Amino acid sequence: MTQETLSFQAEVSKLLDIVVHSLYSDRRIFLRELISNASDACDKLRYEGLTQPALLEGDGEFRIHLSVDPDAGTMTIADNGIGMDRQDLIDNLGTIARSGTQAFSEALKAQTEKKGDVSLIGQFGVGFYSAFMVADRVSVATRKAGETEGWNWVSDGKGAFTIEETADVSRGASITLHMREDAKEFLEEFKLRSIVKTYSDHIAIPVDFIASPREGEEAKEPERLNEASALWTRPRDQITPEQYTEFYHHVSHGFDEPWHTLHYRAEGVLEYTGLLFVPGQKPFDLFTPERKPRVKLYVNRVFITDDCEELLPSYLRFVRGIVDSSDLPLNVSREMLQDDPRLRKIKGGLTKRLLDDLAKRARDDEEDYLTFWENFGAVLKEGIYEDFERKDDLVKMARFRTTASDKPVSLETVVGRMKEGQTALYYVTGDDASALARSPQVEGFVARGIEVLLLTDPIDEFWVGAVPNVMDKPLKSVAQGGGDLDALPLQDDAKEAESKAESTPAEEGKIDGLIARLKVALGDAVADVMVSKRLTGSPVCLVAQDGAMSLHLQKLLRQANQDSPLPSDRVLEINTRHAVIKALAERAAGDGEGVDDAAHLLLDQARILEGELPSDPVTFAKRLTDAMAKGLV
Ligand code: ADP
Ligand code: MG
Repeated sequence: MTQETLSFQAEVSKLLDIVVHSLYSDRRIFLRELISNASDACDKLRYEGLTQPALLEGDGEFRIHLSVDPDAGTMTIADNGIGMDRQDLIDNLGTIARSGTQAFSEALKAQTEKKGDVSLIGQFGVGFYSAFMVADRVSVATRKAGETEGWNWVSDGKGAFTIEETADVSRGASITLHMREDAKEFLEEFKLRSIVKTYSDHIAIPVDFIASPREGEEAKEPERLNEASALWTRPRDQITPEQYTEFYHHVSHGFDEPWHTLHYRAEGVLEYTGLLFVPGQKPFDLFTPERKPRVKLYVNRVFITDDCEELLPSYLRFVRGIVDSSDLPLNVSREMLQDDPRLRKIKGGLTKRLLDDLAKRARDDEEDYLTFWENFGAVLKEGIYEDFERKDDLVKMARFRTTASDKPVSLETVVGRMKEGQTALYYVTGDDASALARSPQVEGFVARGIEVLLLTDPIDEFWVGAVPNVMDKPLKSVAQGGGDLDALPLQDDAKEAESKAESTPAEEGKIDGLIARLKVALGDAVADVMVSKRLTGSPVCLVAQDGAMSLHLQKLLRQANQDSPLPSDRVLEINTRHAVIKALAERAAGDGEGVDDAAHLLLDQARILEGELPSDPVTFAKRLTDAMAKGLV
């Protein structure tokens, strides 16, 4: 029989290196990962067996056996689940199958940048590979259900593994760990017992310890180590917080504490149990293009799928957990699940319960709610335009930074603080809250004491369109916010500046002249030049034309599609109270010297504030130097 040697995928080698060199402070979790895999394998076969009973080979009593051989220094975790064939071994134990290479590489990069901080990658749960924390050699003897040939996979976790065909392997997988010298403690029975009790009690498949008989002794009876009943079927008051947390770790592959646990049984027309968790940490794959919810579906405690998009809306994709219903047919195929009215009903129920709970947590403890919001607010906001029915609830749950508050606040709070005479609730969109708060677009609002919402998540560009009003107040972009600025007085500091700056008809005539001159100088680079109401401290700013896409949205779309050109339908607004603009108006009315260069400099400056480059950096630098020379020399 031939033995093949194959290499691990490069990412796996890197990961193994980190795993071995202190990824986890708590090495006990290797056992939880391997038992978790064994239980998954049994779940899979039970599901396949529903439609292909022959696969069960007459043995549908699933179980996991643990045993140790102190003399050989080994531990074995054996299951009679689905097993693996040669290709499965290569695909599942040679590559990073689950988490996706991309998310892993990202975490790895973050990990290398922040040297020593392994908590990021720790939240992956490296699954099978965690065996190498305690073992310097791992072998997997396995036979896939329904097949005759068995396989032996062996690796020392250093770049390569071997695969060899073997006869006489029973169905399922048997993982043998050759324990490292410094991990021999895990071979002690009492230690194993306590680890299984702590980490794997919630596993619904029996986990038995098979003690190795001492010389002259008879083989001992298997000893049951876990409760072996599905956690969600137990009454809530008989489940400890630790058991919930362990179950959460099992379904999420995470290590964090759940921020929220929702466990309930729905009765009536449709019966089901939901056990759902809101993670305490942000998972890596939150913004992958699939945007798939990750809740596992069971029917009568039989695992059906973890790939069911019909259980939760995608704006709740950060939720982990299970749903178990006795009202779905056991032989339901994954395809049949799409468009099933019963699932739609469950989805509605789960969503309502979750949102109610979140709203309650916000009422009970705002500070604590904000930790949730920082993690998942950007995802939840997708629901504002995706879920018409719950739009209003979601708007109420949303929190925002504003020009008046670094700490995110609710729209209700902002509406409550509106100025007398203020007719709309204003927002500005961009990448960075602190830059937005100081941007020329909002300075006229701030100077009048008007609070502006600082919207910095890409999703914000999309939902604002779906929410014309908040508590009867129109929601408007600062770009549309001319009216209020005329009606509201400036606040103290700015008032002084303003009073000195009343303009006479003669000055107004010069401004008109300047505007005409700027339009000619700037040509197609802007759609228009206009007098600004929103500027108080800055000379100019760029805004989108009325009714056009916001500049920030245009920028997002450009980033997504590198080729798209800069739009030319932007308006340059000028602040006629600003000394530079006044001086330019005088110049334009006189000999006009330097006005054109100044026009380009001002436009480039406005572009920089929008996060762009000057249209021609070389000419920009030259103009700037000339202007400085004039001032200095
Ligand atoms: P995950 O369990 O999250 O998928 P793991 O690294 O723990 O990731 O396992 C990788 C894959 O290896 C599993 O998805 C499964 O396909 C396979 N596998 C691991 N252990 C077993 C087992 N005991 N029986 C069958 N397949 C297994
Ligand atoms: Mg696993």
